[in-house]
Amino acid sequence: APGTMQRWPLVVTDLIEYAARWHGEQEVVSKNVEGATVITTYRDMRDRARLCALALTELGVGMGDVVATLAWNTARHMEAWYGIMGLGAVCHTLNPRLAARDIGWIADHAGDAWIMADAPFLPLLEQIVPMCPKLKGVILLTDRQHMPRGAALPRQLPILCYEQLLDAQVDRLPGFRWPQVEEDAPCGLCYTSGTTGNPKGVMYTHRSNMLHALVAALPDALALGSGSTMLMVVPQFHANSWGIAFSAPMVGARLVLPGPHLDGENVYHMIEAHGVTISAGVPTVWANLLAHVEAHGLRFSRLRTIVIGGAAAPPTQIAAFEDRGITVRHMWGMTEISPLGSLGTAKHCQLELGEGELRDLKTSQGRPHVFCDMRIVDDAGGELPHDGKAMGHLQVRGPIVVDRYHRAPAPAADAGGQWFDTGDVASIDPLGFMRITDRSKDVIKSGGEWLSSIALENAALGHPQVQEAAVVGVPDPKWGERPLLVVVPKPKPGAPSPGDAASPGDGRLRADVLAFMGAHPDVAKFAVPDDVLFVEAIPYGATGKISKVALRQMVAQLRGQ
Ligand code: ADP
Repeated sequence: APGTMQRWPLVVTDLIEYAARWHGEQEVVSKNVEGATVITTYRDMRDRARLCALALTELGVGMGDVVATLAWNTARHMEAWYGIMGLGAVCHTLNPRLAARDIGWIADHAGDAWIMADAPFLPLLEQIVPMCPKLKGVILLTDRQHMPRGAALPRQLPILCYEQLLDAQVDRLPGFRWPQVEEDAPCGLCYTSGTTGNPKGVMYTHRSNMLHALVAALPDALALGSGSTMLMVVPQFHANSWGIAFSAPMVGARLVLPGPHLDGENVYHMIEAHGVTISAGVPTVWANLLAHVEAHGLRFSRLRTIVIGGAAAPPTQIAAFEDRGITVRHMWGMTEISPLGSLGTAKHCQLELGEGELRDLKTSQGRPHVFCDMRIVDDAGGELPHDGKAMGHLQVRGPIVVDRYHRAPAPAADAGGQWFDTGDVASIDPLGFMRITDRSKDVIKSGGEWLSSIALENAALGHPQVQEAAVVGVPDPKWGERPLLVVVPKPKPGAPSPGDAASPGDGRLRADVLAFMGAHPDVAKFAVPDDVLFVEAIPYGATGKISKVALRQMVAQLRGQ
């Protein structure tokens, strides 16, 4: 006999409706792009999402249409997501940090019908529009007062004012009903930055987003609850803010949306001013926060947890937070898996570990959650043991994992077992803790051995005079490749810029760093970099991670190759 339970489609609209009904009083603090801090509630957010849906319907947006956003994390941006997705339309998050040419390519490939953008991005939109013949117009996420005057777009596309559109719908709000949407309907679209070749789109469904929201909130993941105040540092355009914009209303967590300025001073101010208990973001943001806190002798009053992910969390960063009594959770994920894959929380049998062992555990990328099965395989596809030593290609599968890239002719996952190759190289230990060696294109192949640039970077960051470190492989006639360490030195007290602290000719620091690496317990003799290159800045990509592609180009230029 069939089961006798109700058949409810898993749709994200229920998240904001739930939050409005059962956490309607819960605050949403938003630093707007215009600079004002606005405090509203989940009830307001739901009402405004409905208004947004009404306004979009009037513009002709319906099921399956793609509406893009080009915006920082604000309440307007978040409610617009729910307005778009609730209509059965697709919310496509564009990354404003990409070059205009790339944004235009992505918007055209996605088939964006409208772009909802922060007003300061209007000049960027002027460049994008000519590349997007299907685009019908743009909506600026601002009020009438802040609308740019006399602006015009190519093809005379309309530039509409978001608040004005919402105001015009207020009378219709009482009779509003969301359309019925299937749980397998597309819901969100996000492109990976495409460090090689063109960017690739991942089309999330309502169901995959709902399942991801559930696992992301679990105690061993982000541990979000109605008592949490989450500062959503990770941008909505970076893999859907790692799902936080879904998980927070699902549990009624208090949300702080930081707007455009994510420098150390602003992030610290928001953490303290709004009683933030947890935040999540890439290591770069935390490096800036820690530098600010250290330079000004500041303390955190209510902050309890920092989730570091998107790139390897340096051990020094983990220690800096934990020494201040803040628990670090190290997260691994990628756009293709919604994006959370694994988190580094200790298991029951490890709770008695000493502080040193626990810290070491946290430098691993953690263990998978229930919707992300994992394995490592060799070049021939043979499965490798979970012994903590064997390194192989990391593959994943599950209901939150991509099957096929948007508009791609062939599946991205292998047909047999549905395994998706992450492009990362990793090991897995007997307790299931996964450790990323490198992206497969960054791993350094030296004399038949794989060297981990992450392990070398982590070691180098332990040197007291190293501010930032990155390791790339450089061609070597004898070994194939050898590791080269690129360092931004800490500024000397009183030095106006980091570049003044050490010049390429600063032989003493160079010798000192190399000796430090040679003596480091985590660095095998063979892995010690041959040289150190001191630079003023290391190049970063559009999601705030070190760009190894740009770094390799820079190194080749500096070394005259
Ligand atoms: P992009 O390639 O556009 O940066 P993602 O944000 O999806 O896209 O990046 C996913 C990749 O980031 C992973 O495949 C992995 O290489 C890297 N990554 C993510 N989290 C971590 C982590 N905790 N440690 C090391 N690498 C990580």
